[in-house]
Amino acid sequence: MLDFFTIFSKGGLVLWCFQGVRGPAATAPVNALIRSVLLQERGGNNSFTHEALTLKYKLDNQFELVFVVGFQKILTLTYVDKLIDDVHKEFRDKYRNEFQQKGALGLLNGTFDFKDDFMRLLRDAEESSKVRAPTVMKTFEQSLKSQKTVKCMIETRGEKPKEKVKNKKNKGSKKEGNEAVAAPTKGSVGDKQLSAAGDKEELTKDEILQKNREEFFRRHMKAGEKSRSPKPDAQKEKGKKPRVWDLGNSNAKVLDYSNSATNGSAEACPVEEFDPDMALGDKNREPGRLYDLEYESDDEAEEEKVIQNPSKPSAKKGGLGGMFGMLKGLVGSKSLTRADMDPVLEKMKDHLIAKNVAAEIAVQLCESVAKKLEGKVMGTFTTVTSTVKQALQEALVQILQPQRRVDVLRDVMDAQRHHRPYVVTFCGVNGVGKSTNLAKISFWLIENGFSVLIAACDTFRAGAVEQLRTHTRRLNALHPPESHGGRTMVQLYEKGYGKDAAGIAMEAISYARNQGFDVVLVDTAGRMQDNAPLMTALAKLIAVNAPDLVLFVGEALVGNEAVDQLVKFNKALADHSMAQTPRLIDGIVLTKFDTIDDKVGAAISMTYITSKPIVFVGTGQTYCDLRSLNAKAVVAALMKA
Ligand code: GDP
Repeated sequence: MLDFFTIFSKGGLVLWCFQGVRGPAATAPVNALIRSVLLQERGGNNSFTHEALTLKYKLDNQFELVFVVGFQKILTLTYVDKLIDDVHKEFRDKYRNEFQQKGALGLLNGTFDFKDDFMRLLRDAEESSKVRAPTVMKTFEQSLKSQKTVKCMIETRGEKPKEKVKNKKNKGSKKEGNEAVAAPTKGSVGDKQLSAAGDKEELTKDEILQKNREEFFRRHMKAGEKSRSPKPDAQKEKGKKPRVWDLGNSNAKVLDYSNSATNGSAEACPVEEFDPDMALGDKNREPGRLYDLEYESDDEAEEEKVIQNPSKPSAKKGGLGGMFGMLKGLVGSKSLTRADMDPVLEKMKDHLIAKNVAAEIAVQLCESVAKKLEGKVMGTFTTVTSTVKQALQEALVQILQPQRRVDVLRDVMDAQRHHRPYVVTFCGVNGVGKSTNLAKISFWLIENGFSVLIAACDTFRAGAVEQLRTHTRRLNALHPPESHGGRTMVQLYEKGYGKDAAGIAMEAISYARNQGFDVVLVDTAGRMQDNAPLMTALAKLIAVNAPDLVLFVGEALVGNEAVDQLVKFNKALADHSMAQTPRLIDGIVLTKFDTIDDKVGAAISMTYITSKPIVFVGTGQTYCDLRSLNAKAVVAALMKA
């Protein structure tokens, strides 16, 4: 039944392997397990699916061993967990001395003759699963429900508190009723209960229904009266008036760009004042450089406090000292047990959730850390807290570091060499900052000497094209053709509203190819992740135009909602794509990072769930507010108390 069982060291040496009769070779699935789970800190639930196989594994952190069993995922093998535990115990006990005395060398030279033991354990585990006969379903007569009368299930309204007491009593009486078979006389309490139940039974079913109906009407009449409380007439007649904003234009006609005559034409845009300094933000930065997210680690902050305030004792209120302080205590060189770690992990989990990490992910992360540390021998002067904290930090950094790095500049240059534009599609829900961050990315690309064509494929939201036109004008003002050898660095490709977005993107790409643009940035209409027709349209746009990069734009502000959006966008692209191998999301633009203080959990949740890299981080509203993700910065913010 098993396809394989393998035991290997964390360093990668295969110590022993059992290969099932018809099973596939263990190499590919085990490699996938190491790549996607063990190295990616996703070891929370001990199970992993690879193609048609389910892999279950166990870590021995004391001897640095990994035990993996593989079987077809359509099978329900109830004995696998027991088998893996038994094999683990037997193997480590049998070779304990070898591991302890010879260490890594022992592993290299060791011969592990384990086949007979394994076959015995496998037989035992299979037998034990057979012994447990399947539980037979209870008949209705055996169930508690059959003992209830219809009357005792009907709730009579209006006598709530009394009823509750009665019900409680009834419950008691039921218990006593059951006992009564053995002891029929239970004294006065039992009698009272009987009479109480009897009172209720005196009401006939019709009477109860009638009473309930009366009660229902009485309550609804009251509610109706309340909701129909008269409003002052004057207010009624007034109706809803549009709000006039202080700085806004009160004339709705001026704001209406939907007129077909003005639609999409550059002249229709009102020319407004534009302050280049405001658009640029930080003037001291190096042009074209994508800075890392900055962070202030907790230790630095603590040090600063101490220096500023030398007279005060360095009472560590902040930092993880505060969070885990009470749990500190030297453990010495003993191996870590689950009981040692549980209180620390519990605190950590709460801390992560408070920082906006999805609860489910916080649990899995802590579980993964526990699995990684259980049985590990600690150094003499380390504490459980510091060990667990360090393991968690490493796990978090690992999660944020992408499996696949997206290097946009390198890829653009590569496309340039092939005389074709590099195409990026932006997608996401409304208002997350797609257009704004598209403009920031244009600015960054222009500063790096690449020309950009912006394809206005949001043909739905009023003002979307004008917004992009404004950005284009501003970007051209900041980078006029004169300073780029007469070359227009950014241009807008637009066809107004109501047209097919996929078609416009296609035209834009061929226009860019003909005109020699280096990059095409495709803005798409915001859509809700659950809207099937719009998701189909997006899948079509992506399938037809085969962009080099599909970026999902999500705001850090909404925390776990962004995770839901990302997962559903990805799934919808897979479901609604007509292609055999659907094109999914390649990376994330995490916006509004400046608005969340240190509640950076969404970044962890997003990358943990989808393994998609965060390619850009939006940190404000100027063109310079674009950063690359710095895993350490995010983890430092996350660990900060
Ligand atoms: P779209 O509907 O997804 O295209 O969103 P917009 O680009 O129109 O942006 C919506 C709002 O979010 C605008 O007011 C932007 O200025 C703002 N915004 C976008 N990115 C950021 C960011 O990184 N930080 C902050 N604070 N605001 C942002």
